[in-house]
Amino acid sequence: MDYYSNQITRLIEELSKLPGIGAKSAQRLAFHIINMPEEQVNRLSETMVNAKKQIRYCRECFTLTDQELCPICSSGKRDHETIMVVENPRDLAAYEKTGKYDGVYHVLHGAISPMLGIGPGEIKLKELMQRLQGNVKEVIIATNSSLEGETTAMYISKLIKPTGITVSRIASGVPVGGDLEYIDEVTLLRALEGRILL
Ligand code: ZN
Repeated sequence: MDYYSNQITRLIEELSKLPGIGAKSAQRLAFHIINMPEEQVNRLSETMVNAKKQIRYCRECFTLTDQELCPICSSGKRDHETIMVVENPRDLAAYEKTGKYDGVYHVLHGAISPMLGIGPGEIKLKELMQRLQGNVKEVIIATNSSLEGETTAMYISKLIKPTGITVSRIASGVPVGGDLEYIDEVTLLRALEGRILL
């Protein structure tokens, strides 16, 4: 890429490190940015820096938030005795969009994957077990239906069963291997309503 000036090459390189951005998209984005009004470029970069600085994990459910407690955990209208376990904040957002779930969440930030060397210690599982020492009636496991998601669901249910807390798994309806974030709301809702006890 020597035919571009140094700065442009660097910009293309940085952009191509983003997920889903190949060399061609990175080039297109780089030229788009260069043609943007300076004010807009400043706003974009400031927004990114501020988001990175201010966003952290919710103390309770570990979703991303700019407060100590996320809006869901701090809401008095939610049922704090029902916890839905999801792999990432995008899955939480998918369930929130249904508008029909009034419990709280626990975000694992990943799933157990022996193939990728991700063990139970690498996700927020210990933190989930700590939460269960409070008042919890049911844990709904809503990990993806991938191999990793299923492995994680099984692992969690084995850990929780001896505590006497009800454990359930969202029903299929969610296609095998499907990522929750791409599934429509009706299917998600059906999966939640048809959950099976573990
Ligand atoms: Zn929270």
